[in-house]
Amino acid sequence: MQFLPVFEKKERPILIAGPCSAETEEQVLETARGLKEVGIDLFRAGIWKPRTRPGAFEGVGAPGLKWLQKVKQETGMSVTTEVANTQHVFDAMKHGIDVFWIGARTTVNPFSVQEVADALQGLDVPVLIKNPVNADLKLWIGAIERIYKAGITRIGAIHRGFSSHGETKYRNLPLWQLPIELKRQFPKLQIICDNSHICGRRDLLQGVAQRALDLNYDGLMTEVHPTPDNAWSDAAQQITPHRFGVMIKELVVREQTSGNAAFLKTIDFLRHQIDEIDLHLIDLFGKRMKMAEQIGEYKKKNNIAILQPSRWNEILEHSVKLGKEKDLSKRFVEIVLRAVHEESISHQVKVMNENRVLMEEE
Ligand code: PEP
Ligand code: MN
Repeated sequence: MQFLPVFEKKERPILIAGPCSAETEEQVLETARGLKEVGIDLFRAGIWKPRTRPGAFEGVGAPGLKWLQKVKQETGMSVTTEVANTQHVFDAMKHGIDVFWIGARTTVNPFSVQEVADALQGLDVPVLIKNPVNADLKLWIGAIERIYKAGITRIGAIHRGFSSHGETKYRNLPLWQLPIELKRQFPKLQIICDNSHICGRRDLLQGVAQRALDLNYDGLMTEVHPTPDNAWSDAAQQITPHRFGVMIKELVVREQTSGNAAFLKTIDFLRHQIDEIDLHLIDLFGKRMKMAEQIGEYKKKNNIAILQPSRWNEILEHSVKLGKEKDLSKRFVEIVLRAVHEESISHQVKVMNENRVLMEEE
């Protein structure tokens, strides 16, 4: 896929802000005036709201689009809203909405994404695609592909975190490795961090925004409301335009790369060492698997089962202890060892079943 930028602006971060929901004309315009002073790139407001349970405020619907038109006329800012079906696309298009976004609850459903894609066919409007609520990178990419196939090339991704069960610090877990992998596969795709929906509460917004910038994100999407506590949706995570301005001012924007020769030389030297270590690791993993195969041969001769739970527990506990001394988290050691163990087992299975496979093949 050959993406074009949704935002031409060169210096980071691109700023998208506005209320979770458009509630009244006054609330929309007041937020927009406040944000105009801060200086943002795109004004957001939800017109149709996908709420978890019926009966909650489900958005003002099409009449609210006129308020967004007023924002454009009065402030000159571009505007965006969420679209989830054909009617939304047509209504938003008719009212000159500049950018569309696809919400997390829509991205999960290929039928819905396809419906939006079909409605977009032949239109020239940028689309921002939020990650699906579940941690499924392929589903996110699938949604991007559907929109791209409809002829839309100005596509961006919004990382809004992933739903999880039970008590967590965040409303939606960031799982940073997923958007990082998306960016690795599609370096031209602009990625925006929706810190509001990741955090779910005001006090965490700054930290998550900073983390996103440190990870080279292109921009931020933040929910802003003139009186956040009275918001009709997502009250706990919204902030005033003033607070938003303060948050942006306090962000440290580091250069994406540097042309400084001394810096490049040092970083090159350090990276070289990392590459050496990685090579070493792969080599060691290879040796370990050869060892596992030898054990497999031996077990086969003696007719012993592959999995020996007590041995596995021993390895795990011992390694976690050793890891601690090296400042490695228990989680990290467990993940690595589980992966190594799984690979070992599959090597042993291969060795132990070699003759059987051969017989089947004959
Ligand atoms: C929103 O942006 O207000 C929204 C509904 O977000 P999400 O699709 O990420 O839940
Ligand atoms: Mn919201």
